[in-house]
Amino acid sequence: MPAVQSFDPNVISLLQAKIRMIPSEGGAIYLVGPIKLPVNLDGQTFEFKWYCWLNCKEVTEDFERIVAKLSAANLAEFQQSSVLVHGDFESAESALIRFHSICHTGDIFGSKRCDCGYQLKQSMRHIAEHGHGALFYLANHEGRGIGLFSKALAYILQENGYDTVDANLQLGFADDARDYGDAIKVLKELRRKPVTLITNNPRKLEALRTAGANVEGRVQLWGDVSEYNQAYLQTKIERSGHLNDSEACCNNE
Ligand SMILES: [Zn+2]
Repeated sequence: MPAVQSFDPNVISLLQAKIRMIPSEGGAIYLVGPIKLPVNLDGQTFEFKWYCWLNCKEVTEDFERIVAKLSAANLAEFQQSSVLVHGDFESAESALIRFHSICHTGDIFGSKRCDCGYQLKQSMRHIAEHGHGALFYLANHEGRGIGLFSKALAYILQENGYDTVDANLQLGFADDARDYGDAIKVLKELRRKPVTLITNNPRKLEALRTAGANVEGRVQLWGDVSEYNQAYLQTKIERSGHLNDSEACCNNE
């Protein structure tokens, strides 16, 4: 048995005040925040509040027990999801939300094979301009839920003529393996009133409603069309139910 770690009581009381436990099917979600996060958008600084969450099998409100597990949990080997909140998200009459699927190549490297990086920044701008909203950054959604390594394999297939849907199917995955359950639980914890979803994908709106999210409508996101992502965007329109009600309309979902 490893020695039980003891923490400075002040450290634990600081953390206790910022952690909450949300029961879930397989255990609990531990949500930590808000944490001040000033963000640079086009040279202008916007104040966001950041929350991060972790799934655990253990269900407890004695958060010292959870903190004590972290140093051995090797969390850097696993991605955690988080949410950036702007304005009075809990109480404002109208709030925008975006469920953004992590995209290592698009968000971090600025890859033009998809429009994720552009959409990420654009959603944050929309939310900041609207005044109230939240951007959920979903870490288990890489490559529509197949993971980064599998996405690299899918890209090889795509370079050889398979479209984005077929490439995932050929590798043995469902076309779309993403789950929004935890994100919706966190959303409900942060806001009970209805939200407006930033998306071009009507299926996503329906999926979130079915999963229990209080979504009253959606607004579209203008995309970043280039020669590199035209085929990808066309597949979304033809095979994944995305709307193409404007020439420049596209999105990553
Ligand atoms: Zn992407």
